[in-house]
Amino acid sequence: MDILEMKGVGPKVAKTLNKIGIYSDNDLISHYPFRYNVLKKTDINSLTEDDYIVTDGIVETLPYVVHFRKRMDKMSFKLNTGSKIINVVIFNRGFYKSKLPIGTTITIMGKYDIKHNTCVASELRFGALPPKPVIEPVYHATFGLSSKELGKLIDQRLQSDIDVIDYVPDYLNEKYNFLDKEKSIRIVHNPTDINDLKQARKKLKYEELFMFMLKMSYLKSNKGKEMGLKRTVDYNKVLEFIDELPFKLTDDQGKSIKDIYDDLTSPVRMNRLLQGDVGSGKTIVSIVSMYINYLSGYQSALMAPTEILAIQHYNNISNMLDKYGIKVELLTGKVKAKEKKDIIKNLQNKKIDVIIGTHALFSDDVEYNNLGLVITDEQHRFGVNQRGSLKNKGITPDILYMSATPIPRTYALTIYGDMDISSIKTMPSGRKEIKTLLKSEKEIKDVLDMMNGELTSGHQIYVIAPLIEESDKIDLENVYEIEKNMQKAFGKHYNIGVLHGKLSNDEKDEVMDKFKNNEIQILISTTVIEVGVDVANATMMVIYDAFRFGLSALHQLRGRVGRNSLQSYCILLSNRETERLNVLTHTNDGFKVSEEDFKLRGSGDLFGYRQSGDMSFNLADIKRDFDILTKAKEDSEEFLRLNDGKYDYITNIIMEANNLD
Ligand code: ADP
Ligand code: MG
Repeated sequence: MDILEMKGVGPKVAKTLNKIGIYSDNDLISHYPFRYNVLKKTDINSLTEDDYIVTDGIVETLPYVVHFRKRMDKMSFKLNTGSKIINVVIFNRGFYKSKLPIGTTITIMGKYDIKHNTCVASELRFGALPPKPVIEPVYHATFGLSSKELGKLIDQRLQSDIDVIDYVPDYLNEKYNFLDKEKSIRIVHNPTDINDLKQARKKLKYEELFMFMLKMSYLKSNKGKEMGLKRTVDYNKVLEFIDELPFKLTDDQGKSIKDIYDDLTSPVRMNRLLQGDVGSGKTIVSIVSMYINYLSGYQSALMAPTEILAIQHYNNISNMLDKYGIKVELLTGKVKAKEKKDIIKNLQNKKIDVIIGTHALFSDDVEYNNLGLVITDEQHRFGVNQRGSLKNKGITPDILYMSATPIPRTYALTIYGDMDISSIKTMPSGRKEIKTLLKSEKEIKDVLDMMNGELTSGHQIYVIAPLIEESDKIDLENVYEIEKNMQKAFGKHYNIGVLHGKLSNDEKDEVMDKFKNNEIQILISTTVIEVGVDVANATMMVIYDAFRFGLSALHQLRGRVGRNSLQSYCILLSNRETERLNVLTHTNDGFKVSEEDFKLRGSGDLFGYRQSGDMSFNLADIKRDFDILTKAKEDSEEFLRLNDGKYDYITNIIMEANNLD
């Protein structure tokens, strides 16, 4: 039923509801409360620390109101709760003063401060608390529609029958003793008992996570796997290629290459994630993959998130592949129209075997002759899944994603459940561990001394100035402030460059080139250098306001140094969150860092696009509800096994219902 057909919903309310994604009565009842007020009197005398309280009581003194600024006021009075007389302070409710003579019975909720025996109330209601505890749902109030109004509409809808489909199979409902779906929905909107509410929420969360994992497991099962290209390639030729490399591959690199070889030579389409710390050597794995793909006669495309990186890859890769007669070309947004036309033509008539570039590789006017392999570097930066844009081109090349944000195995298995994963866990030998130090701003003198030491040894330094928003002028001023200070300290003897997102691409390239050629010794930069840049002579990184970054982001940043056998340093400058940042001073293992990050910050930072699109849940939270997610994963796999042969029908229903793919 369209929301407009509901009684009490006019065009105006309907429009507001539409804005928060509610179009039908079913949308309305699956708009769940985001929290609950438990209306139960707090025993204030037994509190041992400041806490949120709910209490009724009798007004003991006449309220006193002070006005300040425009339309702001503060009202104070004493309240007798029966067991204690407390001070109550409430803001912007001065208009209640005349309704609160001594002896009035009221209920308040708010934060209670033991030391001052004062409650700063966020809510004041007339009358006593109900005799039995009441659980009151609170909805996100939006666009002028209050939580109360939403609750009323929902209640009204729940007066009559509701028609919901329970997507959890019966045997699983039985296994876990789950409440049925309709009952659960009624309870989350009108809970009378905390335990029931917990059960109801658990059921609804499980349903969400089960459907998500079912989709993941389905995509990974043989049924869900798409057919791709079948190749025959002699593995000995691959080994010969590896033998000719200037260095010996690490074991994990070798294993990853074998995984990819197996995928490429099987008829099933490859959908693989290659994860490994910054500097672990993913690029060479991608090069060997492209070589295998070349041997089987197909074109390869490697997409990098930034121009700088694309160029770096291009130089590196053409260098290695030229001698095998493999034609490598570069295509970025910067390539001139005439040149681009030539490149497109050469892609079509297969005069190019490997193309390296940015998003431009998949713009509408680019067509391939026989694209067999697509590799995306630093996948999580792109924000969208490439499978979609390739679908539009009507081609099904094998896909390899590379990511330098290592994810602990247990998490990867769930959220990347539809992909196969290869991990590079060890660094190429001959590298020294990066020494990471945490310094407060007071210690800047020490830091400048250390910088001086590195510069005197002929090394280069990155200085990172965090930018919250590229558009933020204040932050930009911050970058130039840092430059000024660096000029003061080192300007006499060394060259200092500034790199940030507001510069034109030409300007960026110029600064980067100068840094690469050691014409600049100190590069002050916002995080635009974060991904993939490789300047081996840079041995120190100083990060201002390090607390502004997640641990994984900092770990990635520091991976810019320590690119050769010189001892490298990362200095985190921060006066805040030192305990969290200390994790980095103790470990260089990206998997450990991301595990800590996950514990501390939830999934937000780690999972980029997964988080925003595919993984937004109504009730569930993949960090808090990780146990449920793990169960849902096992159950979904079992479900697919049990229903082999008939699950096309079932999964179709499920995918349709959930708007999946
Ligand atoms: P990332 O995984 O961050 O993309 P790269 O592929 O850029 O790392 O590798 C970092 C550096 O290590 C490169 O200069 C590369 O040539 C070098 N390298 C890669 N594998 C090895 C190896 N097995 N032994 C020695 N050096 C290696
Ligand atoms: Mg890389």
